[in-house]
Amino acid sequence: MIALIAHDRKKPLLADWIAANEDALRPHRCVATRTTGGVLAKRCPALDLHLVESGPLGGDQQIGALIVEGRIDLLVFFTDPLSPHPHDVDVKALTRLATVHDVPMACNPSTADLIVASPGFATLGVT
Ligand code: PGA
Repeated sequence: MIALIAHDRKKPLLADWIAANEDALRPHRCVATRTTGGVLAKRCPALDLHLVESGPLGGDQQIGALIVEGRIDLLVFFTDPLSPHPHDVDVKALTRLATVHDVPMACNPSTADLIVASPGFATLGVT
């Protein structure tokens, strides 16, 4: 399963990235925090998208728990390092768990592009 999250000022960037990679993403099950997911679903209604809570209300922690359970194959989290976030500790915990559990993590479009282009991408999140 692929986790999709973007901070507020990065949501349009993630929506653009999703639209540009829609064909590659369509076979994959995806999970998103609520506000991000709403934006993505509007842009790409065909995505197999499951929503958890909004990030600041615990959604980042829910995705962290999915990582611990071994259910997340890729984390695409377009973070905004130029804005303050009230849930910064949750963001740090989520990226920390992705590192601890060796989950591929893309925090910007260039990295996400490389991952989608990699030979292993097609098998991610399909099961
Ligand atoms: P949101 O949460 O998708 O509900 O805005 C993302 C975040 O962690 O900021």
